[in-house]
Amino acid sequence: MIEKVKKIKKLLIHHHDLFKNAIPLIASENVTSVQCREACNTDLSHRYAEGWPGERVYAGCEYLDEIESMCGELAKKYFNCKFADVRPISGVVANLVMFTAMTNPGDTMCAMPIPSGGHISHGPKYGRISKRLINGTAGAVHGLDIEYLKFDWDEMNIDIDASAKVIREKKPKLLLFGGSVFLFPHPVKELSEVGREVGARIGYDGAHVLGLIGSGYFQDPLAEGAEILTGSTHKTLPGPQHGIVLSNTEDEEEKELLKKCAFPAMLSNHHLHNVAGLAVTLAEMIEFGKDYHRQVINNAKALAQALYERGFDVLCEKKGFTESHQVVVNVAKFENSIGLGGDIEKALEKANIILNRNLLPWDISRDKRSYINPGGLRIGTSEITRLGMKEKEMDQIAEFMKKIVIDETDPLKILEQVKEFRKDYQKVHYCFPAKTNAYEFINFE
Ligand SMILES: *Cc1c(COP(=O)(O)O)cnc(C)c1O
Repeated sequence: MIEKVKKIKKLLIHHHDLFKNAIPLIASENVTSVQCREACNTDLSHRYAEGWPGERVYAGCEYLDEIESMCGELAKKYFNCKFADVRPISGVVANLVMFTAMTNPGDTMCAMPIPSGGHISHGPKYGRISKRLINGTAGAVHGLDIEYLKFDWDEMNIDIDASAKVIREKKPKLLLFGGSVFLFPHPVKELSEVGREVGARIGYDGAHVLGLIGSGYFQDPLAEGAEILTGSTHKTLPGPQHGIVLSNTEDEEEKELLKKCAFPAMLSNHHLHNVAGLAVTLAEMIEFGKDYHRQVINNAKALAQALYERGFDVLCEKKGFTESHQVVVNVAKFENSIGLGGDIEKALEKANIILNRNLLPWDISRDKRSYINPGGLRIGTSEITRLGMKEKEMDQIAEFMKKIVIDETDPLKILEQVKEFRKDYQKVHYCFPAKTNAYEFINFE
């Protein structure tokens, strides 16, 4: 079996080498600092500490308690809120905590459909994406019935009037904002009022935009009317893979309910190594987040503009393309040349340009496309910004993409240029200094 162990190590090294030489543009990903990686590779990954700091079910938690308490305090400071539970192990688990605390099985939730940017965890038990049956977490795990909010294709945002009608008619127990394709702030203020009229609780899934929110950009859902903010800690927040539940409640019963819906309802162990890594990341973002996330958004705007000028149909030109870390491109016009989203994703991958294809709101209902080869690309600037790239580099990335997608240059010819370009961006930025490079494989043997 030693060969297997050696093989796994070799593959891990290959993976690190790939990312050292790639342009990582996946909107849901990021890269952690060296100090965060160090925290995540400790004995904490072997430990249990069920419960809340100071009220544990396990022994040996002296230092874990202090770390987790610090993490919670840093979260409250960074997000400017009164309650933080840093135990959920992912964004989906954080959503399940929200569903469990705020609804009962059989209740109705209003959320966005997947082609308009909704997430699978907001979906019904038996949903459909094109011909495929999909099992959404909200329906399959918590038994919620889902009614979809209406989406305005031109504005790439929730249609306020049409959605208000849905809310008044369906009277949901939970009204959920947030999504995975997320260019502009959602109308939380406007629709929360409508939700409250019919007795709905208000939630906001900030998985994608959590870092933008913490650093004071995009929108502040808890100030605009949301009662609970859930998220992943590894998308625009450049931390380890984990989840978080945030709220402004000062009601002790409500806090107890939220805590109990995390443990014991949703968790046993809660990935303590990642809690430590998250604490490090939150400290970094309190120090560097304003500069980092301002540049993330500026880079998204610059990349959108540079692609647009080169002939790409970037969505929402009239609205300045984006106010988040994301850029969405409609690739329908390449259908008879290089192909659609799936084909373009593969071509770019050959040149180490890593992004993903994405459904556009009209792909399924109007154009009869599926998520296998949809009409869109979703591009994110969180990771390349953390590598120190700025507006000038966005222009270069757009040029690489043009050469492959529009000029149909062989991607293998572009690959060497991409590797050369990447040489200058090997450190993690917006964190405290460290000797180790981003993506450097750490040999423990
Ligand atoms: C990514 C995402 C999630 C899931 O997060 P995980 O941390 O991967 O579980 C939930 N909601 C939205 C809107 C997302 O984009």
